[in-house]
Order: sequence, then structure tokens, then C-alpha cells
Amino acid sequence: MKPTLYVIIPCYNEEKVLPLTAPMFLEQIQNMQREGLVSENSRIMFVNDGSKDSTWEIITKLSGENRIFTGIAQSRNRGHQNAVLAGLMEAKDMCDITISIDCDGQDDIKAMTRMVEEYLSGSEVVYGVRNSRKKDTFFKRSTAQGFYKFMSAMGAEVVYNHADYRLISARVLREFANFKEVNLFLRGMIPLVGFKSSCVYYERHERLAGKSHYPLRKMIALALDGITSLSVKPLRLISAMGFIMSLGSLAGIVWAVVAKLTGAAVDGWASTVAAICLLSSIQLICTGIIGEYIGKIYMEVKGRPRYIISDRTTDPQADKDQT
Ligand code: UDP
Ligand code: MG
Repeated sequence: MKPTLYVIIPCYNEEKVLPLTAPMFLEQIQNMQREGLVSENSRIMFVNDGSKDSTWEIITKLSGENRIFTGIAQSRNRGHQNAVLAGLMEAKDMCDITISIDCDGQDDIKAMTRMVEEYLSGSEVVYGVRNSRKKDTFFKRSTAQGFYKFMSAMGAEVVYNHADYRLISARVLREFANFKEVNLFLRGMIPLVGFKSSCVYYERHERLAGKSHYPLRKMIALALDGITSLSVKPLRLISAMGFIMSLGSLAGIVWAVVAKLTGAAVDGWASTVAAICLLSSIQLICTGIIGEYIGKIYMEVKGRPRYIISDRTTDPQADKDQT
């Protein structure tokens, strides 16, 4: 059976680029249908993320012209991650696989063929990974690379140079639906679901038209969101700082006492310094301990599934039917 593919494309104020890329997506899906990789029921689903220009009108027109195109609209602009999630959740019960991709033609649309081939040879999640960032400006490239390094140092593991161009099977999406958190960082959350995964490498191009909606400010916000959504390491760093400070304070206290005994200090100085050193390190350690508990509460509140079963030697339903 050929899998039914839904391509999920978030769009925010993309009236300039959509008329250029929509035919490219159509051609790609038709090629895959011709090659027998995906079924005739496959669709291209645009998610309008509260655009203020004529993006939604373009989407409606496209879907009127060809039933391969469909569209959903968010009630207001909620951001790229929420738009992708809305598309994935809408599609998961209608298809076998989804591929999420930006609508600006930056990610090589043709790489979808290799992604579907990876799926057909057993991968449930296929990450699109950028080969190089030669086409990005130096600034974009270095800030983006800094972003991945900082994320991993802070305990939020992400696939290097992978953004949100990926194939996910409907089965993985059904498990992912149990991740109830509202702060989304999809590229860090999908690996948490597990299942067999692989990577497909591709060249990243320049935007075909229009301008980026991800300036540095939004990239920093996304990185912070990613770190604080996936990891409690920053809280743990407070405890570590507390312990380092207390060692430093010990040295400070010894120094103050020596200065007092050798008469090098004015009256009251030694006791003031000693008190400051002692209290500040105790305070940091206490904040760190509270942080540990807050971190635990935070993880509990997410209510993520505690286990996900991927395979069984026997189908429990079939077993029950037999008895
Ligand atoms: N996007 C969205 N909502 C937003 C911002 C962006 O749906 O609030 C979409 C946008 O239309 C595009 C994708 O997310 O399809 C990536 O955005 P962009 O190309 O501007 O980011 P960049 O590639 O520069 O990081
Ligand atoms: Mg882009």
C-alpha cells in the first residue's frame, strides 16, 4: 500500500512567495505519485498563521483550483511552531506520513523524495539536515550555529542543523499528541518521542521572495524557549554557582581574618566582608535547592507520557479475540 502523504506548510504574510512555491510543491507531490511513492490521496496543507495580507485568499484560490491543495487557518498569529503543530494534528488521522516544510522555498523541496524513501525503508521520523549554510549571510550562519551550540550546552539536545523540515509518521504523531505542553519547541520534542529515525541532507537556498520572519530577536526567544522547555539545567547551574561561590567565600573570609590580625584593615571591615561572603553563598545554594524542586514540578506539570511502546511480538487485540 502506498502511503498517503500530507505536506504541512505554515504561512505568515507570504503573498509574495506562495504563488511561486505552490506550483513547486504541486510538481513534487505529482512526481512522487508518478513514481509510486505516495498515494493519490496525498495533499498539500497550508496553515495560515493569522496573516494580515492576502495569503489566505491565495490558499483558498489554490484549493478551489486543485483538490491536492487544502488549507486551515489559525484564528490569529500564534507563531511558526504552533502553526506547524496545528497542521500536524489536523493531518494525523487522515494520512500515513506528514512532511513539514517552510513555504519560502529555502529548503530543497526535492529532498522529500528521499525522505519518503527513508520512511519506506523503516524510519518513522526523517530529519532534513542542511548540508551547509553557504547561501546564508555570515551573520545568519554564525548566529544559527551559536544557537545549536548554546542549546546543547544548556542540556536541550537538538539535531544539528535541522530546523523544522522533517517527515513524521502518523503513528509517531499519535504518540506525540500526548505531549500536552504549551511551550512548543518541535525540533527538540520530536526526538523525545523516539522510534527509528534517520537524516536526509540537502542544500539550503535563499528565500525566493519576501523577507524572513525570524530576526535575531525571535531566534533568541526561540532558543530560550527551547532551553527552558526541554531542560532544567539552568536551574541546576544556580546550585553549582552557589557551591563555587562558597569556596570563594571561604577564601574571602580567611583573607579578611588575616587582614584583621595583621592590622591592615579598618575596624568593622573584616566582619562586613565575612558576612557578605557567607550570606551570598548560602543564598545562592538555597535558591539552587528551590530551583531543583521547581524543575521537578515543571517536569511533572508537563504530564508527558512515561513510556511509549513501539513494538510487540504479539498483537494483544488478536490474542484476546482468540481466547
Ligand atoms: N511563519 C509562521 N508564523 C510566524 C512566522 C513565520 O507561520 O509567525 C512561517 C513562515 O511563513 C515560513 C516559516 O514559518 O513558512 C519560516 O519563517 P521564515 O522563512 O520567515 O524564517 P527563516 O527561514 O528566515 O528562519
Ligand atoms: Mg525561511
